Amino acid sequence: MSKTITEPAKQIDVIHETDVLVVGSGPGGLAAALAAARMGVKTTLVERFGCFGGNITTVGVEGFAWYRHEQTVEAGGLGREFEDRAKDMGAAVPESQSLSYELDSEGFKLVADHLVEEAGVIPMLHRLFVAPIMDGDRVTGIITESKAGREALLAKVVVDATGDADIAHRAGAPITKTPKEDLQAASVMFHCAGVDKKKFMEDVKENPLTYADWSTGEWTVETDGKEDTMFSPFIKKPFEQARQSGLIPADLSTISGTWGAVHDTGEITYMNLVHLPECDGTDPADLTHFEMEGRRQAMLAIDALREYAPGCSGIRLRNFGMTIGIRDTRKIDAHYNMTEDDVRHQARFEDSIGIYPEFIDGYGILVLPTTGRYMHIPYRSMLPKGIKGLLVAGRATGGDRVAHAATRNMACCAVSGQGAGIAAALAVKTRCDLADVDMTAVQGALTKQGVRYH
Ligand SMILES: Cc1cc2nc3c(=O)[nH]c(=O)nc-3n(C[C@H](O)[C@H](O)[C@H](O)COP(=O)(O)OP(=O)(O)OC[C@H]3O[C@@H](n4cnc5c(N)ncnc54)[C@H](O)[C@@H]3O)c2cc1C
Repeated sequence: MSKTITEPAKQIDVIHETDVLVVGSGPGGLAAALAAARMGVKTTLVERFGCFGGNITTVGVEGFAWYRHEQTVEAGGLGREFEDRAKDMGAAVPESQSLSYELDSEGFKLVADHLVEEAGVIPMLHRLFVAPIMDGDRVTGIITESKAGREALLAKVVVDATGDADIAHRAGAPITKTPKEDLQAASVMFHCAGVDKKKFMEDVKENPLTYADWSTGEWTVETDGKEDTMFSPFIKKPFEQARQSGLIPADLSTISGTWGAVHDTGEITYMNLVHLPECDGTDPADLTHFEMEGRRQAMLAIDALREYAPGCSGIRLRNFGMTIGIRDTRKIDAHYNMTEDDVRHQARFEDSIGIYPEFIDGYGILVLPTTGRYMHIPYRSMLPKGIKGLLVAGRATGGDRVAHAATRNMACCAVSGQGAGIAAALAVKTRCDLADVDMTAVQGALTKQGVRYH
């Protein structure tokens, strides 16, 4: 048996009591907190880092709705509001492959601050959730750890938007995890300065790449066919040249991928070029190794771009994301787990809390919603089995791998978040269990908040 110690039990101050407590502030948690607060209940948003926004702001994932085309049918709601507010605040630029706006990962920190303050959400940054407070099988609050030590926060309803189902898992809810060898790769994201925009864009226009180019070396990507001739901001040639010349080791075949936005000021952002397989985002030893390995590979990618990419000879690293980007960890076993069939065949549910276009991106599949096809997102996929008082929003909702390739996307996380926030607020107002919330009332409130759910 490995060596253990016994952690002594101790009394902890209850520092805060609230109606709806949202933990994690990515697109899922931010939407949940805003939606609940706009329903008029006391809402608190806890986040481990110093800014709201989750992967948008801490990893640097800026492509919020790069799937959007003329025929795309969507929920609207807070996801759309994130883009619109960012645009109004000068924190977004038109996205290169779609009818959407690319968010500015730094500027969005301010956008989120404004939204949180305006809605009257009680902000609590720099607090890490470490344990649920339980009354039998009901979550009644959380314990956080911070520079102030351990503190207790009590709530009538808790929304787990940690992305990793941290609360559901620690509360004892059943969860699933993709086997390590099949996990979606992690990425260390980075942004560069010093690009010659004119030269770079001339080359993109002269040698446009398509989604068919995503099938390269190690990877094959299954599309619907219609994607194969569509433009994608993909870069691979400079890395092939770098591998041939020895600048990048020949076995590093996973360096290639997409760029996000090129700015007049010479910045090229959302460089999604480093892919790190078999990184378990819930294992700090893996996270340590891959943060460092990812930074090493990012610098190799920059060397290759400097040498071989038109307009990039003068680029330098501007910044890495604050943390490694993790795509795939725990998912709850929910009252309903979404399936591949649901996301491929326009699933319809009575308890829909929002729609999401037929956009599947992950596990070697890319389907873009260039048609009007869309699916319903069921409320039950946020309800963990065996635990009361808790909803799970964002990328940890119940579903199989291919369902997750759709629901993990940020705009879909905003859909589940908004639905969770509204349902949580209604459960508080009507003093009922989350499993018994009146779906007609939830859907009525969704409509009032501008969400299409059918
Ligand atoms: C490299 C990369 C590229 C991607 N590209 C795209 C893309 O182009 N378009 C797209 O739509 N999606 C993309 N995704 C997927 C998307 O970013 C995520 O699936 C989505 O952000 C998940 O949203 P979320 O709200 O569930 O979680 P997150 O965005 O991960 O937010 C979770 C929040 O919870 C906080 N948190 C976690 N644990 C705790 C804790 N214990 N206590 C307190 N706070 C905690 C975190 O700090 C974070 O702020 C990408 C993902 C990665 C990693």
